[in-house]
Amino acid sequence: MATRNLDIIPLYDWGMFTEPRPSVIAGPCSAETEEQVMETAKGLREMGINVYRAGIWKPRTHPGSFEGVGSEGLRWMQRAKREYGLKIATEVASEKHVFECLKFGVDLVWLGARTTANPFLVQEIADALKDTDIPVLVKNPVNPDLDLWIGALERLNRAGIKKLGIIHRGFSTFDKINYRNDPQWQVAIELRNRYPELPFFVDPSHMAGCKDYIREISQRSLDLGFEGLMIESHCNPSVALSDARQQLTPDELSDLLYKQIKVKDKDSDSPEWKENIDQLRAKIDIIDENILYALGSRMKISRQIGEIKRNSNIAILQTNRWDKVLAKVMAKGEEYGLPEDFIKTVFNAIHEVSVEVQNEIISGK
Ligand code: PEP
Ligand code: MN
Repeated sequence: MATRNLDIIPLYDWGMFTEPRPSVIAGPCSAETEEQVMETAKGLREMGINVYRAGIWKPRTHPGSFEGVGSEGLRWMQRAKREYGLKIATEVASEKHVFECLKFGVDLVWLGARTTANPFLVQEIADALKDTDIPVLVKNPVNPDLDLWIGALERLNRAGIKKLGIIHRGFSTFDKINYRNDPQWQVAIELRNRYPELPFFVDPSHMAGCKDYIREISQRSLDLGFEGLMIESHCNPSVALSDARQQLTPDELSDLLYKQIKVKDKDSDSPEWKENIDQLRAKIDIIDENILYALGSRMKISRQIGEIKRNSNIAILQTNRWDKVLAKVMAKGEEYGLPEDFIKTVFNAIHEVSVEVQNEIISGK
């Protein structure tokens, strides 16, 4: 699909984030009580946080879980904004949420993963945000569908939202993995390559699902050159009404940001940055996976051919066919700058194993 341009205002011109990296948005998963909102805000303000998050309406998997305090929580956040000079941020999932946020002076909103996956809601939110200047961050959809993610960005951008960025929080999986959500960094890297001007945040809290992995994910996202982190922090995580396992106290967050993670130089003149080795390695990993997938698919077809040969009583080897294949791939290989000997070795090895497999089929092993 052709990549359309997005018209983006650079992150450091939004009036809420400053260099150096990382730009941090921190705060509890959910606003729970006025005391919890104020105490957490105070702790975070004291350790240098400027942008304060809290969930007001919580999209929960199962009914009956804590679903957020609603607009009342915005009043508490507004107080935190007034008393501590914080910018405030929350998740919106409908036009009603947007109107409430505008009413209470929310400075930044984000779309949650479940909302990004729904173009009707994204459009409704984009329409409600028309003619406002409020920055919007778009979390990845729950499934690794890059076009769906880009489509949401396009809808918002078309509604005139130029203070636009993304939050990578990983993707749902059926199989149990260490992390709560699978990073699949290649998806974010592909988005970065297509829209290098788009500000990038990573949400290590929802990606990790527990405190243990927050450091390594934060470091990884800095190494990949991303601008920001959104991290959940609660004054007393063990009694949090949602996501208790993954929230850091303000002190723990301070340790993470100032002692544990290292920001590597993002000097635009340094060749190391220009060819960021981590980005390149991530690309190589993806290509290797694609090679394996292609080899596996080729082998499946070889087997099918083996079955046809067996059923039609045809010999495995038709040498002229293989000579033609080899000539074709060697010519193509040259176009891609690949040495002739290398192509010959690789394709003869592929052919050899194909013949072996077909042989097994024909001889009924
Ligand atoms: C959140 O940030 O609190 C949240 C619900 O995140 P996500 O949309 O990534 O699940
Ligand atoms: Mn949460």
